[in-house]
Amino acid sequence: MFPCLADNYGFLIHDRRADLTAAIDTPDVTAIEKALAAKQWTLTHILNTHHHWDHAGGNLELKKRTGCLIVGPRADASRIPGIDVQVGEGDVFEFGNHNARIYDTPGHTRGHIAYLFATDGVAFVGDTLFAMGCGRLFEGTPEQMWTSLQKFMQWPDDTRIYCAHEYTQKNARFALTVEPHNRDLIRRAAEVDTLRAKGMPTIPTRLDIEKKTNPFLRPGSPDLRRTLNMTDAGDVEVFAKTRELKDRF
Ligand SMILES: [Zn+2]
Repeated sequence: MFPCLADNYGFLIHDRRADLTAAIDTPDVTAIEKALAAKQWTLTHILNTHHHWDHAGGNLELKKRTGCLIVGPRADASRIPGIDVQVGEGDVFEFGNHNARIYDTPGHTRGHIAYLFATDGVAFVGDTLFAMGCGRLFEGTPEQMWTSLQKFMQWPDDTRIYCAHEYTQKNARFALTVEPHNRDLIRRAAEVDTLRAKGMPTIPTRLDIEKKTNPFLRPGSPDLRRTLNMTDAGDVEVFAKTRELKDRF
């Protein structure tokens, strides 16, 4: 994992036995090549989560230089530069001795996907879920995004979640305005402030931590519902209102 651009993270995964290396998205070609060189790894795959430039913008250049295979969402194949392998909900992508299960997670974009390496307890979720936040709804409805996020909530609690941006501190500030009495959230916000003051990353996060502190996974929270004055509303309505407030935060 390495920081790049203003607030993106790039990720490399490596299967030593099969000698395969994948970049999760391609935010920054120079940063990816530097990270590869530091490890003395050769890029064999790109696993895209969605088409945004800070996720797929480096695809063609890296493919030209390495001949790597590009895997990406079937639902958005026309917008993923250089795509070779199209995947979607329920597919299993074999990466050497590791398997990633694919989840369609529309909301941020209509073709967004996530990769769960269940045996490794690791997930790459792009811009769908962030630590204490979720992606903006550029191309999807609140219903779609809530459905996508509920898929993640079925994963094992100790799943380490790699989000693509360092938005955690800002997200925590917003979360505290909608769940001011959540003790786990108050404690975590302080921990995040300490980490960021030292310039350290807050990613990966873990699913159980998100379930306790991320307002976008907690539409049932009485504290959140009281703040929004939506005690009797449905979960989707509470989620939609939370997202709307965050957009204006
Ligand atoms: Zn995006």
